[in-house]
Amino acid sequence: MRDPIVIIGGGMAGGNAAATLRDEGFSGPVVLLSREQNVPFGRPPLSKTYLRSEEDLAGWYVRPAGWYAEHDVELRNGVVVAAVDPAAHTVTLDSGAEIRYEKVLIATGGRNRRIEADGADLPGIHYLRTVAQCDAIKQEAVRGRTAVIVGMGFIGCEVAASLTQLGVRVTAVFPGRDPLERVLGDQVAGVMSAIHRANGVELLAGEQVAAFEGTSRVAAAVTRSGRRIECDFAVAGVGIEPDIPAVGVEQQNGILVDERCRASAPDVYAAGDLANHLHPLFGRIRVEHYNNAEKQGAAAARSMLGSTAPYDYVHSFWSDQYDHKLEYVGHVEKWDQFVVRGSVRDGKLIGIYLVDGIVRAAVGLDRGGDPELDTDGEMAACDRLVAMQASPAPAALSDEKTDLWSLAGPEARS
Ligand SMILES: Cc1cc2nc3c(=O)[nH]c(=O)nc-3n(C[C@H](O)[C@H](O)[C@H](O)COP(=O)(O)OP(=O)(O)OC[C@H]3O[C@@H](n4cnc5c(N)ncnc54)[C@H](O)[C@@H]3O)c2cc1C
Repeated sequence: MRDPIVIIGGGMAGGNAAATLRDEGFSGPVVLLSREQNVPFGRPPLSKTYLRSEEDLAGWYVRPAGWYAEHDVELRNGVVVAAVDPAAHTVTLDSGAEIRYEKVLIATGGRNRRIEADGADLPGIHYLRTVAQCDAIKQEAVRGRTAVIVGMGFIGCEVAASLTQLGVRVTAVFPGRDPLERVLGDQVAGVMSAIHRANGVELLAGEQVAAFEGTSRVAAAVTRSGRRIECDFAVAGVGIEPDIPAVGVEQQNGILVDERCRASAPDVYAAGDLANHLHPLFGRIRVEHYNNAEKQGAAAARSMLGSTAPYDYVHSFWSDQYDHKLEYVGHVEKWDQFVVRGSVRDGKLIGIYLVDGIVRAAVGLDRGGDPELDTDGEMAACDRLVAMQASPAPAALSDEKTDLWSLAGPEARS
């Protein structure tokens, strides 16, 4: 009897790895170990539709609940892995039990960074990653109540939007000038500020929470500059850290994996939010995106089955805030040119990030809905430009009469 492929982490990456193993025809034993009680699912609705009670999570399951048993995948919920021993090829649970593996995929995602401030442990201060945490925020989100959001990254922005839509009065405290400035740049971030303000969110930019006050539960947040904001509850979205069981593989900002999702020890693979991947196009990167977790989990599974193809997905993500839609393709941390196609003033644009004249990433904001523009096609064309490391003339990129596909060459659209 051969040892199983063990997948640690029943999130997007882990769930897609299990599904891909079976899709690719692997018939050996597969064990999926998950700390959470649910079947693998996508988290995006937890800050959006599910938080607003507009949908349940069934549409976000990686595979229907019955699929795992039907396909002989041993899904073990409520199980915490303490350690992986690559030399012995064993996984040790926190109960002390050991499971031998033939290959192991570590897909344990991230855990929320905690706020370090006086009073940060008071009840009523929430974080968001799991269904249970989302349900706790839902309980608090009663029309007419007040909330402080700490941090205006994607989670903070989306929760601020959803709570506002639920009738909660929101004050957001965050460092920097505008939400998402570090990721998207000042022009798009300025639009994001305007969107939140127009919807009634009070933005306290360039601020940090120094302390929370309250006796039995949080009653106010106090900022570094001394401003006191009364609140019924708070939600912190101050980033995540890779959540990695004890394992003797090379790590630096996550588990270091090569182009094929292999860690530094034989038969150990990693995928999803915790994988610091050697991307053929972008170099070493660790991203925290749904699409990556889905596709990298699948790529790691194929790699475990012997595929030598590098994982070269041109990254992409989206964010929904109020009725605004933001899309992003590629990856860039610093750029030297930002070309706008459309209008920053109207908040409808594609922004293209270039480094040394090469297209590295693009953001689309509210480009849909104009029958004159093939906006889905525009983002797909940007994806293509990133993949081919194109260096078109900026004037052509910004000219809405220029079909972006034409900049990718005659063969590109197929
Ligand atoms: C509220 C929210 C909204 C989001 N919205 C978007 C969005 O709109 N667009 C987008 O692109 N991305 C979004 N994301 C990010 C996206 O959800 C993540 O990138 C994705 O979930 C990462 O998948 P993963 O499988 O790597 O990790 P996870 O989904 O975190 O799964 C990891 C699993 O491993 C389990 N685990 C951890 N440690 C252990 C252990 N020791 N033993 C056993 N199990 C363990 C965890 O409990 C978890 O079930 C959102 C994230 C959140 C939290």
